[in-house]
Amino acid sequence: MPIRPAHDEPGFAASHPGYAAHDDGFATHGFPAHGFPAHGLAHEPGFATQQVHAGEHDEAAFGARITPIYLSAGFRFDNFAQARDRFAGDDQGYVYTRAGNPTNSALERKLAELERGRDAVVVASGQAALTVAVLAIAKAGDHVLSAQSVYSGTRSLFTQGFGRFGIEVEFVDDARDLDEWRRRIRPNTRALYAESIANPTNDVIDLSGVSEVAQAAGVPFIVDNTLATPYLVRPIEHGADLVVHSASKFLSGHGAALGGVVIDAGTFDWSATPGAFQHLTEPDTGLQGASYLEAHGAGAYTAYIRGVTGALFGPVLSPFNAFLIQQGIETLSLRVGRQSSTAAALAAWLEDQPEVLSVNYAGLPSSPSHDLAERYLPRGQGAVLSFVLDGGEPSAEAFYDAVDLFSRMSHIGDTRSLILHPATTTHAHLDDETRARGRISGGLLRLSVGLEEPEDLVRDLERGLAALRSTRSTRSTGSTRSATQERRPAASAPLLEGSTR
Ligand SMILES: *Cc1c(COP(=O)(O)O)cnc(C)c1O
Repeated sequence: MPIRPAHDEPGFAASHPGYAAHDDGFATHGFPAHGFPAHGLAHEPGFATQQVHAGEHDEAAFGARITPIYLSAGFRFDNFAQARDRFAGDDQGYVYTRAGNPTNSALERKLAELERGRDAVVVASGQAALTVAVLAIAKAGDHVLSAQSVYSGTRSLFTQGFGRFGIEVEFVDDARDLDEWRRRIRPNTRALYAESIANPTNDVIDLSGVSEVAQAAGVPFIVDNTLATPYLVRPIEHGADLVVHSASKFLSGHGAALGGVVIDAGTFDWSATPGAFQHLTEPDTGLQGASYLEAHGAGAYTAYIRGVTGALFGPVLSPFNAFLIQQGIETLSLRVGRQSSTAAALAAWLEDQPEVLSVNYAGLPSSPSHDLAERYLPRGQGAVLSFVLDGGEPSAEAFYDAVDLFSRMSHIGDTRSLILHPATTTHAHLDDETRARGRISGGLLRLSVGLEEPEDLVRDLERGLAALRSTRSTRSTGSTRSATQERRPAASAPLLEGSTR
């Protein structure tokens, strides 16, 4: 017996009293009708209000003010008929946590609201979100076109993970070049993919430009909004069809839990290109011969994740983690706003240091992404930045080992500031050419700026620079290896050292 999605449309809204829905079953971007103090106001609540209140259950037992952790594998049926109806989708209650859970669905509603999507599905990690999102679109023989500069785990998933399943992912060389996106679309291309702010090079994607290319080609545009968060930009408002997040980063903020989410705008027409998305448009044995599109309408894609790529592959988010992520989101705007302004200050400060060759931060006027940042990220350009130290890897090593406040970690989005040397860690497995194309040089360090006092962070960066200066003077007097000898061959040097565009 296939696992039934526990909250199919339109019953999803009906089964969640207080979840406002339009007559057509579309989730509104308004608010639960109960339990929300601003109900009845003419204006839509602002982001800070939404991040606290959106999605919450209003029928919690004992009047619990926050959504409790429903840490239960399954849910009891009252009787024979209810069990049958629940599996048939005629009764909208929960069945089994792999297919749906009240704590998880409260988080799903909150994230759908904040991203202006129609619905959302939470899963166990950001990698799981990307996996279930792409596998609910593409099959063996299909092709996906991605921006060049993407999170290293995403790149590995695309090349090693999907490669073995016959889904080919190609990377456009210059994500700003809309003609290149257009040119490289093939008849079997099924999705375009990019990060709103790329990790770690801080390139900003032209959301509406790429979404127009996707729309013209009849394929969905998937945007990873992990670094920006919906506080800084909502890709769906600029034409994205699907948004994914690693909720382990800024959405949580505390660094205590992994999680991921796929948010569907609900607007992509899966039937526009005949034969392209047959798993959604053709009769499905699990749906008594109906197609996902016939059975679920605009909810077809999320129903497919809930019923197939999520529920059957099984990367379930623990309700415990959903609770922790929900706690984090309540302060999202405060954290990301503050972290962005500190990051902007640190980026400007780093740019003034003689040991720093270049700084990758879209908020800087020197950034090639500055125009796109002004257009898409007026509230701030995020908390992740990277910079290239003169002297390559030895300089980076000295700096890295000298900082005290910055934690040496391959993580971002934490309240604590973090530092990473991509070339020898997250990007170490790549060949030189791929690393060069991704502008990952030996001197590149990535920072994720936390909530500490900016002055304390500057002092810590000064410690790093002082250590670099002292190793350099040791090298130039005592050692035979000079910093310049550590550089890459001349031909690739400008590319590797960062400020090439
Ligand atoms: C961390 C990250 C991921 C992967 O998320 P996990 O929760 O670690 O699985 C995906 N995309 C981006 C941009 C990330 O930073």
